[in-house]
Amino acid sequence: MKTPEPSTTPQPGTRAAVLPLIGGALCLNFTNTAHGRGTPDHTENLVDYVALIAWSKHAEAIAAVEAERLLAGAARHPRAAEAVRRRAVEFREQLHRSFLALRRGAQPDPRDLDGINRELVAALPHARLAPEAGAFTWSWDDEPALDRVLWPIVRSATQLLTAAELPRVKQCQGRGCSWLFLDTSKNGSRRWCEMEVCGSRAKARAYYARRKAEAKER
Ligand SMILES: [Zn+2]
Repeated sequence: MKTPEPSTTPQPGTRAAVLPLIGGALCLNFTNTAHGRGTPDHTENLVDYVALIAWSKHAEAIAAVEAERLLAGAARHPRAAEAVRRRAVEFREQLHRSFLALRRGAQPDPRDLDGINRELVAALPHARLAPEAGAFTWSWDDEPALDRVLWPIVRSATQLLTAAELPRVKQCQGRGCSWLFLDTSKNGSRRWCEMEVCGSRAKARAYYARRKAEAKER
């Protein structure tokens, strides 16, 4: 029997490879691979391992050559690849819930923190320092593990969770959006993931509500 060609295109319908990267941190962009959590419009873009790789390449978390290697590995081990995809989605939701809890001034759920720590423990043995232009940069070993796609995200998450700008992580106020971003505006006034998406929708709704109220008064 002929071995199947490695699939390099995600299932149709996912926008993984074209999602806006507005989070300001890799880990926040990662949490934005789903939206409409808790609403009927809940959308999952990480529908398969191929989509996870497509997003990671798009977000420049992994290089194109590494993406190809991982896709070839996934074609040989589809069940293991799917297990990594599930882990990625679980990790993503643990991050999303934790950032929201911190935003509310609460502690993250210990189960979520356990999950995040599990990914940290899985990634850390692979961390390496690599010399770059007279300094050093954070790098990874060559282990051809399918879950190496998660390591840069784990790194980004642990960096942000321990950073001084953690209080600047906000959730878009767009109805049913749920995207997170780092508000780097001077006065901390950013409200929307993208003004032209959620901002203008909210403005349009407010405008029609005003018009309706005015019509009633007349
Ligand atoms: Zn939004």
